[in-house]
Amino acid sequence: MRHLSVLTACLIAIATAAQASEPTHTSGHEAAKASAEASSSAGAKASAIPSIKPNIVPPKEGAAASASSGVSASVPGSSEEGESELQARIAKRIAEMREQQKARAAAAAKAKKLADARRREAERVAALPPPPAHGTHWTYEGVDGPANWSKINVDWAACSTGNRQSPIDIRDGMKVDLEAISFDYKPTNFNVIDNGHTVQVNVGGGNYITVGNRTYELVQFHFHRPSEERVNGKSYEMVVHMVHKDPEGKLAVLAVLLERGRAMQAMQTVWNNLPLEKNDTVTPNVVLDLNEILPPKREYYTYMGSLTTPPCTEGVLWLVLKTPMQASPAQMAIFARLYPLNARPIQQAAGRVIKESN
Ligand SMILES: [Zn+2]
Repeated sequence: MRHLSVLTACLIAIATAAQASEPTHTSGHEAAKASAEASSSAGAKASAIPSIKPNIVPPKEGAAASASSGVSASVPGSSEEGESELQARIAKRIAEMREQQKARAAAAAKAKKLADARRREAERVAALPPPPAHGTHWTYEGVDGPANWSKINVDWAACSTGNRQSPIDIRDGMKVDLEAISFDYKPTNFNVIDNGHTVQVNVGGGNYITVGNRTYELVQFHFHRPSEERVNGKSYEMVVHMVHKDPEGKLAVLAVLLERGRAMQAMQTVWNNLPLEKNDTVTPNVVLDLNEILPPKREYYTYMGSLTTPPCTEGVLWLVLKTPMQASPAQMAIFARLYPLNARPIQQAAGRVIKESN
């Protein structure tokens, strides 16, 4: 019976060793290492176990001695039967342990494979180009300012790649006999919106300009401070942009430069109806006489440019009146409280033809 306890001790020792060498991590390099360790320890045990096996076979003389000693005399051979049953159980247990070992090694290998696949997927995603931007928020200063407009939205690429951008410093114009702009403006209904970039006045239909055999209808006008365009390097305190569209959708923007002086009645009418909140619209029950915005003399500079706000669309006909209009300091101060700076920086003229009235 002594070697039964030796056998039991051996079994416990094997089981302990097997558990101690189990991998405890199943991810990444650890999983790889653990897997390698598991398979090498499994191999070590496989070679160790046969060397133990002979020891669990009871020596014949021991059995004989046991039999002759009469300890198990009442049940002859029962000790040997018990030991062989125990051997079978031990062999079965060892086989089970090997199976468990194999299963754990397989699980570790599977975990490593999964971790590798996840890593490869993360690398693949990291290598992808960024998704196209479709932002809509832009400003005149800071990170969303003019230098970055083209990065905010893929549809605003022209803001940086265009070569017909506005505003420009108007100089070296070709003095020619430009045809006069024909104005057909009349008192009109309007509404006022503070759109977060400027104060914009949307006007009712029926107000036209005709130039170059094209007739454009006034859609809206709005203000910038300071003036976006310069003339021979000089900028003005403010400018009014009157945005017109022809039936094909082509745009013509008439710019009226503003300097300090007498009050402008049309501006006062707009300021009287300023919305209290951004993006709110005020629709007053009065009419606006658009002719009050125009100077009496209407010579102009003209060139092809773009919208001066995103999406910076090109193909816009610019008409900049040479004679500035006036607004009072108090009227200008009102706009300055809302928009102290809402002018895009000057863009390269890039050899564009600029014409001006003689
Ligand atoms: Zn404008």
